[in-house]
Amino acid sequence: MLFSHARRWVYPLSVDGWHQRMRRWTFLALHLVLFVTPWIMIGGHPALLFDLEARRLYAFGSIFTAADTLLLLLLLLFLAFALFFFTSLYGRLWCGYGCPQTVFLDAWIRPLERWIEGDRARRQQRDLGPWTFDKVRRKAAKWTLFALVAVITSMAFMSFFAGARELWTGRAGPVEYALVGIFAAAWFLDFVWFREQFCNYVCPYARFQSALTDEDTLIISYDTARGEPRGGLGAREEGRCIACNKCVAVCPQGIDIRDGFQLECVACARCVDACGDVMGRLGHESLVRYTTLAETQGRRTHWIRPRTVVYAGLLTGIAAAWIGLLATRTPFEATVSRAPGSLFTVDADGEVRNTYLLSITNNDPRQGELPFVVRVDGIEGAEVTAQEIRLAPTESRTVPLVIRVRNRTDLPRTVPIKVRVSSPRSEMVLDATFKTGGSIVSPGS
Ligand code: SF4
Ligand code: SF4
Repeated sequence: MLFSHARRWVYPLSVDGWHQRMRRWTFLALHLVLFVTPWIMIGGHPALLFDLEARRLYAFGSIFTAADTLLLLLLLLFLAFALFFFTSLYGRLWCGYGCPQTVFLDAWIRPLERWIEGDRARRQQRDLGPWTFDKVRRKAAKWTLFALVAVITSMAFMSFFAGARELWTGRAGPVEYALVGIFAAAWFLDFVWFREQFCNYVCPYARFQSALTDEDTLIISYDTARGEPRGGLGAREEGRCIACNKCVAVCPQGIDIRDGFQLECVACARCVDACGDVMGRLGHESLVRYTTLAETQGRRTHWIRPRTVVYAGLLTGIAAAWIGLLATRTPFEATVSRAPGSLFTVDADGEVRNTYLLSITNNDPRQGELPFVVRVDGIEGAEVTAQEIRLAPTESRTVPLVIRVRNRTDLPRTVPIKVRVSSPRSEMVLDATFKTGGSIVSPGS
């Protein structure tokens, strides 16, 4: 376990091949998401910004607030089930192609390490040797670059919370920079020392793999039937494993895929490319490949099975609910409450007056300034006085709303009313009550 015996340091050999080229494309796409998205502006706001202080989410031209909690919960639920669905079909492809830990290690850390300290054998040799000036110089250069990568990636991540323009120009708050420091320290520790141990001992996703996968899930596997017995005379000609150990040397998790499926495997396909290279030179196919347990046992793989059908059904239901909620969502917030300390007042002209506080927030960043109109239903002959309300995107205002009604005897003490707040594109209906006071309404009541 992690602290029960000495760490066996892994020195993965560099490797290239079709799968590594595919991984580099996904790495590029993910880097674009991380480094470019926070700089894109839509309607005067970042394309994606979690403004925790104002409790707002800016997402591709829309603003979501605490009133949209259900929408956000449904989105999280959708993402969770999408991960279950994807994992049940494709196993740990996320780990090998999309996880930030894998992406940063393979895109930055290992290439920098190789550039400064050389490939596997030289690194192993140098680490076993004494601390010379050359070793100190190389380690210092490597760790400095690792620290730089840790800070840059942490800044990029925090840009989604503090705003890229503010964060990268020194205009964010001390809390934001403190968080960058904490994230950068964690990443630095991971780059310098923790690495594959994170997948093996900490990552929760790796822990519940066995509950999400079955024998029809895509895995990376060694072809025992074709590869064994490994080595010996004739192995090269017959396409058996030549025991070159290259698949082990390239593995960043330090495992031997020929021992069978292991939870430590992050499906990075480095062993597939390594063996593809070795066996390709001998005129044979790779002995390590993407397959399923069912296939390795000579059965057909079933992509449609009870668990994938259930996940697909749940995803469809959640997506439909989410789209329905989004379509009926009002792009502004409004609340009405009785003005403090006032139930009702009888004016000099005999009219009964109730005063409220109406708060409106414009959450539509695409329409510019919007006018809001207030009407009241549910009480006949009501005279409504509200200030003209025009709000710029994200602007909030609280205004007094005064409702006056002629003194009549046919009204109960409390009349339920509807306050309708309309913008040019949508309307929100708020429930409130109008207090008449018994003595002025129905003598003797
Ligand atoms: S066994 Fe192969 S796919 Fe799994 S982690 Fe090692 S190199 Fe990557
Ligand atoms: S790379 Fe292929 S041939 Fe070499 S040890 Fe691994 S499985 Fe055998």
